[in-house]
Amino acid sequence: MPTADERAIDLRDQALGVLCAPALRSMVEMVVFSPDPDIYEARSVDGLVRFVRHSDRTRWHFHIVKVEGRDPLLDQDPTRFSPLAAELAAQQPRREENSYPIAFERIAQIFDHPCAPDLCVLHTAAHRPSGHRGEHGSLGVVQSRAPFIASGAGILRQGMVDGHCRLIDVAPTVLALLGLEPGPGVGPTGEVVDGMLLSRQDGRTLTELFDPEGNPSAHVVVVLMDGANANVLYDAAANGVAPNVGRLIENGAALAHGGVASLPTVTLANHTSLNTGAHPGHHGVLHNAWYDRSRGRQVVTESPATWQEAMRWLFPGVETIHEALHRHRPDAVSVAINEPADRGADYSTFDLFRRGEVGRLAEGVPEPLPHAHAEWVAASEDYKWGSLVDASAINQMTSIWAGEYLGTRYQIPDFTWISFSLTDAAFHEGGPHSAIAQAALVDTDARLGEVVAAIERRGVTEQTAIVVVADHGMEQTALNCPGDWGDALRAAGIPHRDEASGFLYLGDM
Ligand SMILES: [Zn+2]
Repeated sequence: MPTADERAIDLRDQALGVLCAPALRSMVEMVVFSPDPDIYEARSVDGLVRFVRHSDRTRWHFHIVKVEGRDPLLDQDPTRFSPLAAELAAQQPRREENSYPIAFERIAQIFDHPCAPDLCVLHTAAHRPSGHRGEHGSLGVVQSRAPFIASGAGILRQGMVDGHCRLIDVAPTVLALLGLEPGPGVGPTGEVVDGMLLSRQDGRTLTELFDPEGNPSAHVVVVLMDGANANVLYDAAANGVAPNVGRLIENGAALAHGGVASLPTVTLANHTSLNTGAHPGHHGVLHNAWYDRSRGRQVVTESPATWQEAMRWLFPGVETIHEALHRHRPDAVSVAINEPADRGADYSTFDLFRRGEVGRLAEGVPEPLPHAHAEWVAASEDYKWGSLVDASAINQMTSIWAGEYLGTRYQIPDFTWISFSLTDAAFHEGGPHSAIAQAALVDTDARLGEVVAAIERRGVTEQTAIVVVADHGMEQTALNCPGDWGDALRAAGIPHRDEASGFLYLGDM
């Protein structure tokens, strides 16, 4: 009789055989898994790579121990397919053309989570699982590349910089801009090291963007444009379509190859990475949904019913920007607008959800909605909803920055996070290179202008830094590439659960 472990390995190998067969090559880019602790493998239709992880206490090192056929992770060039012309010239790149920046680190961290899947299926650039023209979630560079711009107090004026960062670098960078002193904390390898700004930190401070002569910023405002493709945003800034973004780049720095999202390149996992400086496998909010085998239950984080409770899944010892700021400066004021990764904020939109007062968000939102393309609001339910949500975000931000919102008085916040949704809705609906995506950028840029104006009205522009970022990239899918790998697994009689499209848990559950 085979043991339970032997049966699990046998099932995994059967599933790998199905997923990496030529029949699924148009939808499955590769499958990644961890056969043993600190050992990882990526397999595709035409090859595999196995790599191992070692710690030197402060950081991880990765070594390839086996390659068969074509190494699926051979190309990890973060500069591939940027700027926009390069992306447009190679849409839906084939696996031999694609690149997977920082692949080893981004894959390995998933399997540090106790609810990591048995297999993580990564879809191809062309695959269109949801009927959307724009997609993300995979390891490829276009789906992983968010914009990253920092501008204003404390930031050197460099314009477009030939570089990239990781989204986990944003939280420590924000805290360093605010002048916090680093100290001991749990670093990337899980060991306590010096130089940390958060109690659990994978990312690093982007000191190369700082003005060595400058003072710390008294105020930092982060503007997240959900799902905004970095190349498209930078192009809109350069062409005058997004003049407010353009001014921020002119007065600061934009990383040409963007901020690389953690894996999976999806919304809630990366909102939480941005706000904690840790990878999803280390902060706890692993994906939009996963399966907890030890408790025999599904966990859904990203849904209208569960957004507001998402922070309950943070691991012990993880800190948000809000919490780290308050640890150093108990009387600092911090604000989280339309942001589910909000723990520790003095004001958070999701507190209104948790208190059952969500109806109050409509108070003070002008009608008709300002900065909203009327033709797209009329044509698309998602565009209309995103416009309404973002108009409410602006109403919250400008009211708090003016000193009062919903009857509560505020001093000028030290730290403000504001998340815009319209970009994600429109970039999904039409794809990143569509007219609806351009309209969303115009509207969102105008809202960014309102954020800048609210800062100016308080007379603190010179003391304020603004960061613009997104939570993942967005790739134009192919019209002719739908399908579900679950059909092939079911046909082969392989029992499994597929959570959030690609997190496979094998066996009867
Ligand atoms: Zn998103």
